[in-house]
Amino acid sequence: MPNDFLIGTGIYDVTGPAAELGMMGMASIDQKTEGMHSRLFARAFIVCDQTTNKRVIILSADIWSCTQAVKMEVVKRLKVIYGNDLYTIENVLLSGTHTHSGPGGYSHYGLFNLSILGFDKQNFECIVNGMIESIKKAHENLAPGRIFINSGIVEDCGNNRSPIAYDNNPSDERAKFNNNTDKEMLLIKFVKNDGREIGCLNWYAIHPTNRGNKNKLVTGDNKGYASYLFEKEKGTNIHTKETFIAAFANSNCGDVSGNVKYGIPDLVHDFQHMKENGEKQFKIAKEIYNSASKQLTGNVDYRHTHIDFSKVQIEGTNHRTYPAALGASMFAGSTEDSTSEFGILEGIRTTTSGDYPAGQKNIILEAINLLSGLLTGFKVPGILEDEMKQGHQPKPIVFAQGLAEPFPLSPEVLPLQIFTIGSLIVLGIPVELTTMAGRRLKETVLKIFEGAGVEHLALMTYANAYSGYVTTKEEYDVQHYEGASTHFGPYTLMAFQQEFNKIAIAMKENKAFPSGSTPRDLSSEQTNLQTGAVTDTQPWPWIPFGGVQTDVDSFYKAGSIVKVIFWGAHPKNNLRIQGTFLEVQRKEGDKWITIFNDNDPCTFYEWKRDFIANSKVTIMWNIPLDTKPGEYRICHFGDSRDVSGNIKPYTGISSTFKIGESSVVNEINFKNSFGKQVELWFYHPQDWLKWSAYDRKVLNKDENLKWKIPSGWGKVQVRFTGPGKWKTVSVGESINIKPNGEIEYVS
Ligand SMILES: [Zn+2]
Repeated sequence: MPNDFLIGTGIYDVTGPAAELGMMGMASIDQKTEGMHSRLFARAFIVCDQTTNKRVIILSADIWSCTQAVKMEVVKRLKVIYGNDLYTIENVLLSGTHTHSGPGGYSHYGLFNLSILGFDKQNFECIVNGMIESIKKAHENLAPGRIFINSGIVEDCGNNRSPIAYDNNPSDERAKFNNNTDKEMLLIKFVKNDGREIGCLNWYAIHPTNRGNKNKLVTGDNKGYASYLFEKEKGTNIHTKETFIAAFANSNCGDVSGNVKYGIPDLVHDFQHMKENGEKQFKIAKEIYNSASKQLTGNVDYRHTHIDFSKVQIEGTNHRTYPAALGASMFAGSTEDSTSEFGILEGIRTTTSGDYPAGQKNIILEAINLLSGLLTGFKVPGILEDEMKQGHQPKPIVFAQGLAEPFPLSPEVLPLQIFTIGSLIVLGIPVELTTMAGRRLKETVLKIFEGAGVEHLALMTYANAYSGYVTTKEEYDVQHYEGASTHFGPYTLMAFQQEFNKIAIAMKENKAFPSGSTPRDLSSEQTNLQTGAVTDTQPWPWIPFGGVQTDVDSFYKAGSIVKVIFWGAHPKNNLRIQGTFLEVQRKEGDKWITIFNDNDPCTFYEWKRDFIANSKVTIMWNIPLDTKPGEYRICHFGDSRDVSGNIKPYTGISSTFKIGESSVVNEINFKNSFGKQVELWFYHPQDWLKWSAYDRKVLNKDENLKWKIPSGWGKVQVRFTGPGKWKTVSVGESINIKPNGEIEYVS
């Protein structure tokens, strides 16, 4: 069919070192990995135009951001595999979901490796390799198919964390929007012509920061959790040649946080908050996936260039951008997501004479000292030219990383990329855009394509490189965290709009676009100070690796937590890519069947160093309420390294334990405030379409009812006949049928 594309998808593990590697995003030196809650994956989509053979790769990985180093290396290796012309810097878009709970050290620029203590070759290799493997799968799976597009609104999932800055935007501009964050999720769905559903990709703006800067377990946060739920439901198997993949990519989330409504992450409620934000994204994605019927048709095309953002002249004005620098409030951090390490506030601006404000001057200087102490071999100018200071006004520059010698500590030559797939435009953007900055950029590009059949635009941020935030000029003037972290001064957004505008025009007019400046290659300049696994030792000669230190209990009830501690080894010895550090197994007949691994959110793998080189591995399993009674055990897999550097796999197995009938809360309370009699029909939570009602109860006006949930169900699907509503209700919940027929949960 002429309207079909060649489409292919692929998924591969990119989980880096789960111990002793700094996490990326919070810039906290203490936040090093100490285990895993879920694995990180690269998800690749290839779309090829059958008439022109033009193609694009769109990849979303559960990492903080793509970096220039990763992009360059992936393209280099793709050229070795597929030749020089098939996959290039122009038609490959690599992005991160922006999780802040993934291992770091994969940038070639010092600013982003500061808290990681340098470049980490093992993690870099893991990310690059996973991206390549996912792309290879997608390439091998290419076959004719169709792409559908749909959108939906995700309510109550993220709030603006810098409303003071947002409110400084012109009121007539703000009046055009109902909200101070973008709530629309845009989704594309991939279906092969033989009917096989091979995946979906969506864009939604929210920081994956529900797991805060105290978290040390690797996780994809709310976006990773949403992917997990979708792929679980579709029966994804990462080991097969082709499988269904669900990518939850980010968008203009620079000022959007899922923590505003809960407060700073506290390690107690963070998992729950992550689940809530993940479930909300999953729910809408699934809805608009199922109802997507509008097909994308037309051509596949792309343009790409590199722009030096340290000196973009804003045409027709005397404004320009300047070499990268950070403002004082960058050190405040986003106070909605974490507490400042320095005690600096958001919103610090220069005095009229261009100096630091008096009350903050000393802590700012202290922060600068601390930062400089982390840099070895670099010179960052302390005294700046007036032109640089004025260029960044009202940002009080505390760190001019763009002027560092021998080379800048963050990139200035940045990739800008535009893809079209029929009526959809995808922008590859190497920064974090705030809500309004994203809207302005979108408007600029859409205007160019007016009348050209373009209907949708996705802002794919954290793509191809990373260079801080971009706010509007008005937001910048307020110098909240995002404005202080806008690297190239107040006119950065205008520079992005201007340059994207030019590329869009070339694309619309079907003209080539110059490839632009050449980014710096720093691959030979990398060092690392991070401790690694040298040798693993056993606590005592007679205790083997995998030996049990604290065993399981013999009996548990569903809903409780199983915990076992093993004497293990350092996970850096073998990342167990596409594998697992643990399995939960159930006995069936005389066989042990694996029911969960380290990617399942009901399991936790924790690693701790003990003495000098012993490893203690704690595995926990949160037994789901619907777990069948029976015999179970926990296995731990690892690899130890001896003095001569030989790495050997080992296995640890807990004692067998029983899970019995749950005797925890097993009732649901109903109250009928509907004003008349309601009949309640109860159905099995998963198979309620197939089953006839398991139970029926009549609930008279103003009557209460306690209903006992069958063992192992955990949840029940209830039909309320009078108001004509369906609701899933969990064990222990209290439900009120309101006078207007709404079903409310009563706490
Ligand atoms: Zn961010």
